[in-house]
Amino acid sequence: MTVADADLDRLADALRRSARGTVVFTGAGVSIASGVPSFRGQGGLWTRYDPAEYASIAALRADPAKVWGFLRELRRTLDAAVPNPAHTAIAALEAVGAVTAVVTQNIDGLHQRAGNARVIELHGSDRTLSCLDGGHTFDRSDVEHLADDPVPCCPTCGDVLKPDVVLFGEQLPQAPFRRAEHALRHCDVLLVVGTSAEVYPAARLPGTARRCGASVWEINPVAELGDVDGTIRGGAEDVLPALVEALRPVRSWRTIPRMLRGLRAERWFRD
Ligand SMILES: [Zn+2]
Repeated sequence: MTVADADLDRLADALRRSARGTVVFTGAGVSIASGVPSFRGQGGLWTRYDPAEYASIAALRADPAKVWGFLRELRRTLDAAVPNPAHTAIAALEAVGAVTAVVTQNIDGLHQRAGNARVIELHGSDRTLSCLDGGHTFDRSDVEHLADDPVPCCPTCGDVLKPDVVLFGEQLPQAPFRRAEHALRHCDVLLVVGTSAEVYPAARLPGTARRCGASVWEINPVAELGDVDGTIRGGAEDVLPALVEALRPVRSWRTIPRMLRGLRAERWFRD
C-alpha cells in the first residue's frame, strides 16, 4: 500500500517545524502487524477470554493457577512477536531527534526491541514481577526457573507472583502516567497511533497535549479521535515508514552537483 495523502506532507511539515519535538502515543494497532492480538474489538483477546475471569487482580487472588495459565500463553505470544515497520520507523524518528518520547499502552516491549530508548509504559511490563502483597520485585530472568510452576511464588515470602502489568481492577501506576503527562505538556506535536484512546485516564492525554499548545494527529485505519489537526487513515506499519520517507530531504547537497552535471549532459545531447 502506498500512502498518498496531502495530510502526510502537512504532518511531515509539522514535525520539521517542531522545536520541542514530537511525542508518539501508541496502542494495540501499532503491534497487530507483529502478530500481537488486539485485546478489545472484533476477534480481540477479550472476546475469547473474559477479562474478569482471566486477567483481573481479583481472579489472580481467587484462582492464581487459572490466571497464570493465561499469562503464560500471553507471554509465549509476546515472545514470538517481532517489531514491524511501524516500530522501526518510530525508532528511526527518535534516532534523528524528531521523537522525544513514546508513550505506550502496550505491554509487548516492541518499541524497546526496535531501538527506542525513551519509552513510557502506561500499563507496565512483564520484564519484572512482584509478589501480591509483599513488595518484593524481581527481574524476569531472576525467576525464570519458576516459569513452569503452576503458580510461581515469591522466593522471599512465598506469596503469589504477578507480572508488573496492569490487570483489570488495578489502577494505572502513577509514576509513568505523570511522566507521560510531563512529556505531553512539553511537545509541539502529538502523534496518536493505533489506539482509540477511549479508556480513562489514558484518554485524557491527547487533551493535555492540545491544551499545552501541541497539534494532535491521528494515524489509524478508522478515524476515532474527535479534536485533531489531521487524521491519516491507514495501518501504522504503512503510514509511519511513509512519514519517515516524507521527512527525508528530497535532494541532499551531494546529489545537486550530480543533477546539474546530468542536466548539462542532457542539454549537450539535445543540442
Ligand atoms: Zn515477596
